[in-house]
Amino acid sequence: MPLMRAAVMRKGQLIVDDVPDPVPGPGQALVRTLACGICGSDLHFLKYGQRMVDLSKETTGVAMLDLGRDVVMGHEFSAEVLELGPDAAGPKPGTVVTSMPVMLNGFSMEDIRAVGYSNEYPGGYSERMLLSAPMLLEVPNGLDPRLAALTEPMAVGAHAVVKSGITPGETAVVLGCGPVGLAVVAALSLAGIEPIVAADFSPARRQLATTMGAHEVVDPREEPAIEAWRRVDGVRNVVLFEAVGVPGMIQAAMKDAPRWARILVVGVCMEDDSIVPMYGINKELEIRFALGYMPNEFADTLNAIAEGKVDVAPLITSEVDLDGVPGAFDALADPEEQCKILVRP
Ligand SMILES: [Zn+2]
Repeated sequence: MPLMRAAVMRKGQLIVDDVPDPVPGPGQALVRTLACGICGSDLHFLKYGQRMVDLSKETTGVAMLDLGRDVVMGHEFSAEVLELGPDAAGPKPGTVVTSMPVMLNGFSMEDIRAVGYSNEYPGGYSERMLLSAPMLLEVPNGLDPRLAALTEPMAVGAHAVVKSGITPGETAVVLGCGPVGLAVVAALSLAGIEPIVAADFSPARRQLATTMGAHEVVDPREEPAIEAWRRVDGVRNVVLFEAVGVPGMIQAAMKDAPRWARILVVGVCMEDDSIVPMYGINKELEIRFALGYMPNEFADTLNAIAEGKVDVAPLITSEVDLDGVPGAFDALADPEEQCKILVRP
């Protein structure tokens, strides 16, 4: 059986090994991975994989994968089309593409698989992947494939902003400037929201938030984000974006939020958490949750990057080959040094 190299999640460990080389079936495209971002969700998955599988089964009714078998993660990628499978219509071989990390083999929940969180469909921490041919988006304007790989995480921010219902004239506070919070800042900036107040403990992350369009950045140990917002605006309606994802953050946002504020939760907290409902009741707060993106938001994000409306280059802090993936997972623990690490198989 032909093999390819991949960074494989096996029995809860990340190792570099040979895995079966994928062969495109009907409607599928075989692609060569050009660049793939390492996502915080993958760090979570390596640590809390079984809990994520269990929670996904509970909320969707479908088992996403079996952790007893190999999983090749990586869902933020750009790639070159190598070959189209039988009856597959899509960009011709040689085309540089990106795609939502979704394999559509049909229209039932069982037929939809997450590329990079699947036993069948390896993600971008491998030399080659199978993608759904109709889902492929050609990377326009000769955009660098490394920047095109940032489409997926930036689309998460675009979706969170849409989901929040924020409109020009309202103001924003972004709690947490990891890749998700920074994508939210970029999308708010693109939507013309002002002011955008962002908070993070890390000076490097605050600097990146300014680069992505935040008007005011604070270290929450020195000045709470909501106080900074009061200082620079404090009058108009505010939407708080929770992009930290640790227990206590939703309650902290509810405590800080002024009356009638909205809270958009986009940080992925894997643990149980508690809130005091009276904060929400007394202030008539509205809390919404966001996950992923819609196909149009994904395509719009790719175009915004390709047209230079969003500069994602500053977010890329290093690049590794497949052998460097396990080390990169460890390196991402330090927010001062790393933000987005690209894997280039
Ligand atoms: Zn991700």
